[in-house]
This record gives sequence, structure tokens and C-alpha cells, in this order.
Amino acid sequence: MSTSAIIIGGGIIGLSSAYYLHKAGRQVTVIDRGDLATNCSSGNAGYICPSHFTPLAAPGIISQGLKWMLDSRSPFYIEPRLSLSLAQWGLAFVRSATQSHVDRSAAPLRDISLLSMACYQEWQNSGEFPFFYRHDGMLELFHTHENARHARHTVEMATQLGLDAEWLTAEQVQNLEPHVTCDTRGGVWFKCDAHVNPAELMKNLAQHLTDNGVQIIKNEEVINFIKQNNKIRQIITTHNSYDADLVVFAAGAWSRELAKGLSIKLPMVAGRGYSFVKPLQDYPFRHPIILSEGRVAITPMEDQVRFGGTMEITSTNAPPRYKRVEGIVQSVRHFFPGIELKTPADADIWYGYRPCSADGLPYIGRLPGLDNAIAATGHAMLGLSLGAATGLLVSQIANEQQPSLNLQPFDPGRFA
Ligand SMILES: Cc1cc2nc3c(=O)[nH]c(=O)nc-3n(C[C@H](O)[C@H](O)[C@H](O)COP(=O)(O)OP(=O)(O)OC[C@H]3O[C@@H](n4cnc5c(N)ncnc54)[C@H](O)[C@@H]3O)c2cc1C
Repeated sequence: MSTSAIIIGGGIIGLSSAYYLHKAGRQVTVIDRGDLATNCSSGNAGYICPSHFTPLAAPGIISQGLKWMLDSRSPFYIEPRLSLSLAQWGLAFVRSATQSHVDRSAAPLRDISLLSMACYQEWQNSGEFPFFYRHDGMLELFHTHENARHARHTVEMATQLGLDAEWLTAEQVQNLEPHVTCDTRGGVWFKCDAHVNPAELMKNLAQHLTDNGVQIIKNEEVINFIKQNNKIRQIITTHNSYDADLVVFAAGAWSRELAKGLSIKLPMVAGRGYSFVKPLQDYPFRHPIILSEGRVAITPMEDQVRFGGTMEITSTNAPPRYKRVEGIVQSVRHFFPGIELKTPADADIWYGYRPCSADGLPYIGRLPGLDNAIAATGHAMLGLSLGAATGLLVSQIANEQQPSLNLQPFDPGRFA
């Protein structure tokens, strides 16, 4: 069996894969075209969320998305552009957005989330590297009757799936958040959820890997491959070339282009989101919160609170549309009228690209037609949540072990 592994991409998926492949005795190299500090895995809301068992491709998303597209501050936007890959993704996405797809996906998404949570807890208990991890659940709050009805349905489904979710009146929401004035119709407390500080997790995980002999190469971009028979023999970067026994594709929103270089179809688009942080003492939230109507996430993390949201299907080269952050700010003020929040200066706003697969499920498994390449990407809104489990599954696939769960729903060849 080969003993070395090259991982393309040092986001949470790449680093988690590095963690488990290294544990399994491989000599691991991670190559990233950036510095690891600014990728999508560092500035997200930090939710580890079994409550998110509904894939992005779900009924209603298309009509809601079309309405939102007319508003420059709305949580959802598709940049109109002539792009074959966008058109192919869009077609596959529309085809996937059915109730039967949602029903089929709920248990696999729950299972991989719970596996991931167990992995994060194991990391935490191992003491190998420190990171903030809290299991306070997540509050989902709403204003409209329609969202209240939707939330009731979600609680029923969560309960059927064995997840701990509790319906809350407006008064109960207020009691759980005593230090901010809440204006809601009610909410759901997903007690099954946990959260981390993603930037700290990423930094300390990378340090732990480096200290233990994993090589992390930064600011070097993979641009090509040399293939022989059914194997990738060499990885060509902007600076070097590397022999490859095993290659893991964990390049986030850029994985589609990389796979295309090998004539492999991995439909994916980039879903840009924005976030910013404020001191916890000025914004004293006690729980992670999702504001249903604005799709805004609020996460207290140690001494900070992160506000984040928006899903902008765009090219990774398009300049950021900071105006969309106004929508996040407005939503927060709407739900918490006592909170004085202003749109931050552009320089204080972070943005990242979610790797959005065409059906809202990740691609985890061997790449079609290649014996030594594994895809680990396409996690959309759930990359942090599913990160640790994805790393474990990558290592199990590489070592030809029985995977901890059925990987068929995540087959990277499902759109080939
Ligand atoms: C506002 C916001 C909030 C979010 N909140 C949550 C949340 O609460 N919970 C959750 O689970 N998820 C959340 N997400 C989604 C989550 O952040 C992503 O799913 C996750 O970070 C994807 O991880 P990744 O490792 O696949 O990609 P990335 O973190 O983007 O890492 C990919 C890496 O690959 C590198 N790369 C790309 N191409 C190449 C190449 N050719 N050569 C070398 N390197 C390359 C990039 O530089 C990058 O570092 C959120 C996202 C946003 C935007």
C-alpha cells in the first residue's frame, strides 16, 4: 500500500483529512495556494449542526431565491453571467430540489453530522491541541407565520430523526437571551448543535499537524496533473512538481476546475458569504442564533460575536459586494431592536466561498476513473460541521477500511 498522500487545499476538509491520514501512518503533504488564514473555513459561523439535515437543494428554494434576487440586501443572489458550468450546475440543482431528495438526504446528513460531532469531541478530549468547543445548542428565530409553520415541521422531522429540538415561545426565547431585547414570534432550540471558533480551530489544528510532521506548503497553486493509466503520477504546481501515491481533492470552491483538468465532472459553484466580528461585551448573546427571515447567523465565540450570512452564487474573481452586508445588519436590528449595530467598514468584513455541490450533498469518495484520487469537497453550508467526519472517511477510503457510514449518497460520480 502507498504511504504518502498529497492533499490539495488546506481548509477544514484538507486539514481534517491530513489529521486522519497522518494518524493512519501516512506521510502527508498539504498544498494550498493561499496562506490558510483567509479561506472559507476560517471566517464561518462555526456551527456543528446536526439540525441542518435539509440539503440546500430543497423545494421552495428556487421561488424564494428568485424573489430575493430582486433585493440587493437579500440573503441570496445569483450573479447573472454566461457560464456553461453555472448553467449545468443550475439544471442539476433544479432537478435535485425535490421533496423526495430532501427525504432521502435527511438521514445521511444527520449521520455524517453526528459522526463529525463525535470526532470533534474526541479531538477536544484528546487534549492534542486546544480549541473552543461549546455544546449550547442553536436557536432558530422567526417573525413570520410562514416561517413559524416551517419551523414546526422542522421540529417534527428533527424529533423523528432522534435529534433534540424544542419549540420555544417568544417569552422562552427572551429568557434564554436575557441580555438582549428580542422581537420574535418564537423559535426552536436545537439542543443537538454545538459550535467552535473556526479561526482558532484552523490555526491550532494546522500547528498541531506541522508539529507532528505533516508538511504544509502555502502560497503554491496546483495547476496540472500527469496521469498514467488510471493514476495521477505527478502534481504540478506553480513552483514544483510532486510525485503522488494518493491525492485528496479538498480545494473547496475551486475543486470543480481541478477535476475538470482530469476530464472529471464535479458540478459545483462558489456561494460567497460575508461575516464580521464585534466584542461580546457590547453584543451579549448567549447562544448561537439563526434569524430565519434574513438567513443570518450570530455566534458568540469566547470574547467575540460573529455575524454572518448571505449566499451569493458568483465567480471567485468577482469583486465583493459589501452592500449585501447591510442586509445582515438590518436583520439583526429587526430581531433585536435594542442592539446598535452599524455596517462595518469594508476592511473589517471577511468573505469566503462555500463549495456548493449541485444537490446540496458533499462529494466524498474515489474520483471516477482514478485509482489513487479521493474527492472531499462540495460541503456548501456544512463544511465546518462535516469537516472532521469527512477527514475520517477519507482516511478510511484510502486505507480500504469499512467506512463509518454509507457513502453512496456522497458518491462523487453521481453526476458523471
Ligand atoms: C458566512 C459563512 C458562514 C458559514 N457558516 C458555517 C457554519 O456555521 N458551519 C458550517 O459547517 N459551515 C459554514 N460555512 C461553510 C463552510 O465555511 C465551508 O463549507 C467550508 O469552509 C469549506 O471547507 P473546504 O475545506 O472545503 O474549503 P476552503 O476552506 O475554501 O478550503 C479550500 C482551500 O483550497 C485551496 N485551493 C483552492 N484551489 C487550489 C489549488 N489549485 N491549489 C492549491 N490550493 C488550492 C484554497 O486556497 C483554500 O485554502 C459558512 C460559510 C460562510 C461563507
